[in-house]
Amino acid sequence: MERNVSIIGAGLAGTEAAWQCARRGIGVDLFEMRPQRSTPAHQTGDFAELVCSNSLKSDSENTAPWLLKEEMRRAGSLLMGVARECAVPAGHALAVDRTSFATKVTAAISADPRIRIRRQEVTEVDRSQITILAPGPLASDALAEEIARFSGSSHLHFYDSISPIVEADSIDLAKVYWAARYEKGSADYLNCPLAKEEYDRFYDALVAAQSVEERDWENLNYFEGCLPIEEIARRGRDTLRFGPMKPVGLKDPCTGRMPYAVVQLRRENLRADSYNLVGFQNHLQFAEQGKVLRLIPGLEHARFLRYGQIHRNTYINAPSLLTETLQMKQHPKIFFAGQICGVEGYVESIATGLMAGLHAAALASNARLVAPPRATAFGSLVYYITHANPLNFQPANITFDLLPALDQKIRDREQRHRRQCSLALEEFDRWIGSLDPPGLASMPPPGCLCLDGEA
Ligand SMILES: Cc1cc2nc3c(=O)[nH]c(=O)nc-3n(C[C@H](O)[C@H](O)[C@H](O)COP(=O)(O)OP(=O)(O)OC[C@H]3O[C@@H](n4cnc5c(N)ncnc54)[C@H](O)[C@@H]3O)c2cc1C
Repeated sequence: MERNVSIIGAGLAGTEAAWQCARRGIGVDLFEMRPQRSTPAHQTGDFAELVCSNSLKSDSENTAPWLLKEEMRRAGSLLMGVARECAVPAGHALAVDRTSFATKVTAAISADPRIRIRRQEVTEVDRSQITILAPGPLASDALAEEIARFSGSSHLHFYDSISPIVEADSIDLAKVYWAARYEKGSADYLNCPLAKEEYDRFYDALVAAQSVEERDWENLNYFEGCLPIEEIARRGRDTLRFGPMKPVGLKDPCTGRMPYAVVQLRRENLRADSYNLVGFQNHLQFAEQGKVLRLIPGLEHARFLRYGQIHRNTYINAPSLLTETLQMKQHPKIFFAGQICGVEGYVESIATGLMAGLHAAALASNARLVAPPRATAFGSLVYYITHANPLNFQPANITFDLLPALDQKIRDREQRHRRQCSLALEEFDRWIGSLDPPGLASMPPPGCLCLDGEA
């Protein structure tokens, strides 16, 4: 039996995966190319370096990011434990001292006798060996080429082009209407009609809004097919009306006429109770987006679950390539974890590292691999990345709209979320309990140092 797992990348996902394997008695070869070769965003040679903000998002009970963190805590996550030790005051968020966070993760991983650290860039992947690929959104070029080779080049993306998403019950339904263009197919789109004055006001605000500064190394050469809306707008006052705000074939039933311009909202199949602003990817600062997009009729009080973004990001087309246990369909010994598997964010990256670690450990031990239940935050993330439409797959961070809708409708948001969390945690406990012997979740692997450095 193979009792060893190779892990490529000692970032957030890779270190959590290594820890999960080690505590199940599996030997790990953990490959990390820093400090010899760095990425454009990392500053140190430490493992689990947080490259930008120091926040692991909301820690308020019964929010979606809290639920994901709570599931990790219950699964014995190393990085969640270290994060709590390094927490700094940040209101309702869990924020950490990034230096002590990375130092402590590096110390814990380095002290584990089952984890062999290999400071080298990996450029080839042995598909006959159980391997977790966790090289992050800035995977080295040589490794990205290798992944493109064995997964198919059309299945590797280098940029994220994200449209904003709003919560359904924050849309003013009195101002919008259902319609399909030219009445072809079912009327699945909500349409926000704009009169000329409303369009002009929106246009002026859009071209005046501040963009996010592009980093030197990002070199965002936009594809014509997914230009940011502000870029389209700069090409002429009417360009948007011939692009993402095209009104033709969308007669407004209230007036019986075609509006001057239209913004279409599409309900995502796998996202309950939320709508995507179709074709509205943009590179504006988040605060500016809030102001500009709320000028659209029907969205005056919109609550944004996600703002638009365009940034450098290497990720695979998970719906085409992966199973719910994060294994490649074509090469079952290869797992993906972290941002490269199609999730977005620090906490989501750690969570997929944790899952890949425990699945890879199960494979190495000849045990059964069981995906997390759909009702949990773990299960919802994985369900989304493996079942979303591969044609327009966009990475996701955890939000309630990824969780399955409740059988019974609860109107009050807080009560609804509380119910979703309690169901998720019940299912989670059953799942994690069925995988691991009792007590494993709270047990460090033998021989490891205490996190404060004392043996
Ligand atoms: C510039 C930037 C800013 C971001 N800011 C935020 C933020 O503020 N909040 C947030 O929630 N998310 C943010 N993210 C997204 C994401 O959460 C982080 O990138 C996160 O670190 C991803 O975790 P990971 O484990 O997938 O990758 P990483 O943490 O990047 O780890 C990957 C590791 O693999 C190593 N590696 C790469 N190629 C090879 C190779 N060939 N051989 C060996 N080792 C290799 C890298 O050196 C790195 O250590 C940001 C991403 C970027 C690019």
